Amino acid sequence: MFLLKMRSTSSKSATVSAKNNIIFGPVNSRRFGMSLGVDLSPSVKQCNFDCLYCELAPSATVDKQSLTVSVGEIITQLQKHLHDKIDVITLTANGEPTLYPHLESLIDAINKIKGKTQTLILTNSATLVNEKTFHSLLKLDQVKLSLDAVSHDIFKKIDRPHPSIQIENVVQKVIDFSHIYTGKLFIEVLFVRDLNDTQQEIEKLNKVLHKIKCQRIDIGTIDRPPAYPVEGISYKELHDIALMFDADLPIHIASRLHAEPNNSYYTKEEVLNTLDKRPLTSEDIDLLFDEKSKENLNDLLTCNEVTIKNVGNLTFYIPADNLKRKRQRSSGH
Ligand code: SF4
Repeated sequence: MFLLKMRSTSSKSATVSAKNNIIFGPVNSRRFGMSLGVDLSPSVKQCNFDCLYCELAPSATVDKQSLTVSVGEIITQLQKHLHDKIDVITLTANGEPTLYPHLESLIDAINKIKGKTQTLILTNSATLVNEKTFHSLLKLDQVKLSLDAVSHDIFKKIDRPHPSIQIENVVQKVIDFSHIYTGKLFIEVLFVRDLNDTQQEIEKLNKVLHKIKCQRIDIGTIDRPPAYPVEGISYKELHDIALMFDADLPIHIASRLHAEPNNSYYTKEEVLNTLDKRPLTSEDIDLLFDEKSKENLNDLLTCNEVTIKNVGNLTFYIPADNLKRKRQRSSGH
């Protein structure tokens, strides 16, 4: 879980000073708002996975950090950059942030200075099997857990984990965490061509995702040059995968910016059917519909057969009839 930046690996000591590259941003993220990044491994990649799709260079897995920055140094740097326009302080790393050995003390220290700003961590989920990490993450306002596969073989192929990590244990801890955690939980699944995009793996993921209580499941694909020669899937394939998950799962297609458009023609009936199965945003529509289909959508909006629904920062198109059914269900009729 990373943000790509320039790195230096010159320090030989166990504690490194990285005053200038601990904090990065803020960046405006559609999913999380104005985010100030905190890199918990600013000098070198330290990760318990060696994912095929990683945007950092391949590297041997580790189960703990050998180069660390002090909590004091992180807090000093954070205080210099934190202001009231920041929506979220995002704990991430050049590698896996939960390998940071002082995570709980750091979260406690951030919670004392953050004011109304939310805290978020982006993690590959594997260290949830560690009791201490599990409890530390409960203290954050938002957590994003990655889960690319639930089958042992596929997980090993895509994420290339440290030998101590077993996916069955990780999946169980993700489920347990989701039932205890009171903040906002997001799950992310990244699809890699010919690996976890098979119907069989999607069915298994579907089953597991039903056991996880979360706000949103972001599905995406590779959108930056990967560490190994693997390929992402097209936007159309992502959309087809979104439809393979049960309709009651809060699936959201996250890879739009770099997604390859696949504009096809949809009749009015097909527009309604497509939106009924999975509401779409205007970015989805730009990637999926051709000009004539967009006119069909506009006609449906004009005659109120399709309506607009705002969910958090995102605007979705949804058939009016579908929204009515949802309202009826939620009001108990
Ligand atoms: S979890 Fe995977 S993608 Fe994230 S930093 Fe580690 S190797 Fe890279």
